[in-house]
Amino acid sequence: MIETPLEFLDIWDQWAKIVALGSFGLGLIIYLRYWLKYATSKDSKAKYDLINLKEIRTLRTVSVFVIIALAFIGNSFVNEIGASMMVIRGVVTVSLSVIMGVIVSNMLKFYYPFYVEKRLKKLRYKPRISPKSGKPMKLLSEDEEDVYLDEGMQAEENVFSIDYDVWVDEETGYTKIEKYSGHLHAIQCPECNYQTLKVDREQVITPPTELDEGELNKFFECTYCGHKDSRKFKISRLRPTESDAEATQAVS
Ligand SMILES: [Zn+2]
Repeated sequence: MIETPLEFLDIWDQWAKIVALGSFGLGLIIYLRYWLKYATSKDSKAKYDLINLKEIRTLRTVSVFVIIALAFIGNSFVNEIGASMMVIRGVVTVSLSVIMGVIVSNMLKFYYPFYVEKRLKKLRYKPRISPKSGKPMKLLSEDEEDVYLDEGMQAEENVFSIDYDVWVDEETGYTKIEKYSGHLHAIQCPECNYQTLKVDREQVITPPTELDEGELNKFFECTYCGHKDSRKFKISRLRPTESDAEATQAVS
């Protein structure tokens, strides 16, 4: 049987709707999976890590599927307009999809991080509940927490843009140590004001000794405007080995 143009358009209509529905469905599944993972995360730290690592990437994937769905649904129902108009509409849709893609991608890259940052801050400093006493724990300051961190952790904290948060249950002495990576985390750029300034590399200027603090240079680069920045940080003194016994005692 030879297909007439009308029959072809019928088939196209059907398939375009199926592709649109499938694409939308996939986007929805990916979004729901993320949401479910978030809702079932066991604590604030797990939620923090999930948002920090996955949220923007997930939304980007979802938006691609939604845009594909919109493009196909916009190109079905072609029976009424005929085959010649279909080509024009196809070209218009592709251009519109690309524009939409660029807009969504830029929003996720440059505006959405502000919203993410706000939520991350809230999650990071939300009082942790002690499993021992059921009461809120106390977050130690940078100076207080050193006792609870071993030497490796302290070195990491100084050099590799890694932050440890130490929560203590004052009643039972139970501690919870959480690790935050500065490399995955962007801060606000002083030049363009977007939340896109990241640690590029680090360089130890003076290594710390048991007597003196060391010094470290962190080099930042903005992924939006390319602004480069370097800031000096102090590396805390190395702890003498005698205090190891004291530290283990405090943790147990
Ligand atoms: Zn910038």
